[in-house]
Amino acid sequence: MAFESLTERMSQAFKNLTGQGKLTEKNMNDMLKEVRMSLLEADVNYTVVKDFIARVKEKALGEEVLSALNPGQMVVKIVHEEITELLGSEEVEVHYKKSGITTLMMVGLQGTGKTTASAKIANLMKKKQGRRPLLVACDVVRPAAIEQLQTLGESIDVEVFTLGVETKALETARQAMRYAQENGYDTVLFDTAGRLHIDEELMAELSDIKALIQPDEILLTVDAMTGQDIVNVAQSFHDQLSVTGLVLTKLDGDSRGGGILSVRSITHVPVMFVGLGEKIDDLDVFHPSRMADRILG
Ligand code: GDP
Repeated sequence: MAFESLTERMSQAFKNLTGQGKLTEKNMNDMLKEVRMSLLEADVNYTVVKDFIARVKEKALGEEVLSALNPGQMVVKIVHEEITELLGSEEVEVHYKKSGITTLMMVGLQGTGKTTASAKIANLMKKKQGRRPLLVACDVVRPAAIEQLQTLGESIDVEVFTLGVETKALETARQAMRYAQENGYDTVLFDTAGRLHIDEELMAELSDIKALIQPDEILLTVDAMTGQDIVNVAQSFHDQLSVTGLVLTKLDGDSRGGGILSVRSITHVPVMFVGLGEKIDDLDVFHPSRMADRILG
């Protein structure tokens, strides 16, 4: 499970505090040093850690924690608040158009879980939000991608629009929009091509699709297991496409948490969904405060 060692180290850092009635400045500095180390070991970006510790320190001193009745708990509360802040504080939801078709463009590197996430999100929208989604297979590069999306679509009873691998992604997207209008769909999710690395060809194709469909949301899937690399990938996609949200996949894996804790404050792109397994229901809307609970154990 994600964060195990971070959670373990954080609780170790707090242990010395919460047991005590009074707190000295030295206790607090020792604790902050421990928290700092645990974040760095979890692979959180150095600048993010530095700013984080500075904010906790300022708050803790500002709130006169040292003379409080239960200073340890107050410090833990401050750390919790600041971790929630790092994660984005508020839940960010999909912006649906008031009328007409809401479009979502799913982007991401190959293997990050983009196709799976497209189906998981369509399923959630259908089941929990009463939407009528259409999935569109615009990943015409990876041979098995269309089939994979079709299989997923069947399993959740959501139609998949495809014109096969012979048709260019842009043309598929164009015809899919018309098809959605003619058939009363209110939400269209475009599963676009991924590559192993970010390259100009990929970005050019994605930019063309973006210009055509003018998506309401551009959701980027990033793999939690890739640690701080999430930040670089997210920044590159964001620079080119203005991503509106992140889908953090494979949080059920053994990730250290560094990417998750860094990505929001560096890119300012909110995490909207988290993938928690391979099954279609293994997807959650992202709640920063709940995630902070989980990290702090
Ligand atoms: P794409 O190339 O980005 O479209 O990636 P896929 O959707 O094909 O996913 C790649 C692999 O990751 C597949 O084996 C998925 O089952 C798996 N996968 C996707 N999301 C998750 C997740 O949240 N947790 C786990 N454990 N596996 C996932």
